[in-house]
Amino acid sequence: MNIAAALKELQAARIETLAGEAPAAFAYGADATFRAPETLLVVIPATEDELIAAVRILVKHRIPMTPRGSGTGTTGGALPEKTALLFTGRLTACRIDAGDLIAEVEPGVLTGDLKRAAEQQGLLYPPDPASHEYATIGGNIATNAGGPASLKYGTTRDHLRKVRLIDGTGEVRELGAAVHKFSTGYFLPGMICGSEGTFGVVTRAWLKLVPCPPFSSFIEIVAPTPDDFSGIRLLAPAAMEYLDIRAGELVTGSRQSYLLVRLEAFTEAELAEQERRFTGRLTAAGRFFRIGRDKKEIWAVRELLSPLSYQLGERKTAQDIVLPFSRIPEFLQWAEILRKRLPAGMELFVFGHLGDGNLHVNLLCGDDLAVEAKLIQREIIVQTRQLGGLISGEHGIGRERREALGLFIDEPTRELMRGIKKLFDPYDLMNPGKVL
Ligand SMILES: Cc1cc2nc3c(=O)[nH]c(=O)nc-3n(C[C@H](O)[C@H](O)[C@H](O)COP(=O)(O)OP(=O)(O)OC[C@H]3O[C@@H](n4cnc5c(N)ncnc54)[C@H](O)[C@@H]3O)c2cc1C
Repeated sequence: MNIAAALKELQAARIETLAGEAPAAFAYGADATFRAPETLLVVIPATEDELIAAVRILVKHRIPMTPRGSGTGTTGGALPEKTALLFTGRLTACRIDAGDLIAEVEPGVLTGDLKRAAEQQGLLYPPDPASHEYATIGGNIATNAGGPASLKYGTTRDHLRKVRLIDGTGEVRELGAAVHKFSTGYFLPGMICGSEGTFGVVTRAWLKLVPCPPFSSFIEIVAPTPDDFSGIRLLAPAAMEYLDIRAGELVTGSRQSYLLVRLEAFTEAELAEQERRFTGRLTAAGRFFRIGRDKKEIWAVRELLSPLSYQLGERKTAQDIVLPFSRIPEFLQWAEILRKRLPAGMELFVFGHLGDGNLHVNLLCGDDLAVEAKLIQREIIVQTRQLGGLISGEHGIGRERREALGLFIDEPTRELMRGIKKLFDPYDLMNPGKVL
């Protein structure tokens, strides 16, 4: 590894850089885990060509690198650990092809900007992580980001049709095709999605768009029962989000659990028919609910939740478990019992994408309870495993969950994964120390 030589070549190529010890390098390297980054140098390319040239220079000098979008990842995936940081935030070209229903984007495009560009043409880019106003498409692809809309439309992986990736040998690979179906050999974009920067750096992506349903309606159900979970899911809502009593209290002030449901339709009549079906079921079940078409009134509380949660304690640790749908009531019951035996000063709250079994289980406490929080997180992970679930539905493994991965993926399969990584990254330069 020869950092000085790499820096000289990057500067000769007029690619912006920052020394790892520069104060601003800390800001580039910090992410949502709030851990201290260890950055060798920061590379800030202004174009896709510069990004490719920079990766080639780093590969040539065998300098390990960590790609980074906005640093909103919750598992430390973008945290440089004695690596060069590749900041993609300046690569923001975005082109909507309304004829082919495809968006061609650079990795630094914010998810919210892509969604707005699609909407201007009556189209929808469905993935909607709560962080969509800050997170980048590169980060979304690398983590296979989801959000409430995943219930109806799937996650980022279901929309990534083609990707341009520079791998750990400096080779630029075009994988997949900008079409909506693919059965022409192995579909490799599906594997790049969720690889958390460990195979290479995404320099461009082609994403599937869908027609945007113009009508929507929102239902808030107070104190939903397990029967409501399954009954409502069978009515096929567009999104179905859960807030446990503490999460509910946080955003509404009332210590109640809530189920929030979104309906979508292409016509007024279709929406009215859906509303009738849902309210009919809820009325028959004697449920207390309200329904409205103003997104701000009912749905906004869901979007407030993640940011608000940070106010409950200095230290937030979270799991984003995914369970078989039928095991959710069992998990929630177990979490209620867990809440009652938490030490004073520690808060537990559970919320998330109940419709697809993906729950965010959050612990908040002061730094003095760090050890206890770690032990309780371990219990949550073990309980998830016992119920047939997985450790991440959408946030990924990064560095924080590496240790637990072995509980969910057996050694032969992890060995297979290591072998695949080696094909893309034989020198282990691409985000080393993450995922596996
Ligand atoms: C308040 C809050 C709410 C959130 N809500 C959700 C949610 O609802 N759903 C959800 O899925 N996630 C959610 N997240 C997590 C996070 O926003 C997502 O994981 C997001 O996809 C990360 O995007 P980013 O640009 O911040 O990526 P970063 O954090 O910068 O990076 C994340 C990972 O992607 C890799 N990466 C970044 N760019 C590239 C690239 N060009 N090529 C290869 N690898 C790359 C990094 O190396 C790292 O491993 C939330 C986070 C916060 C803080």
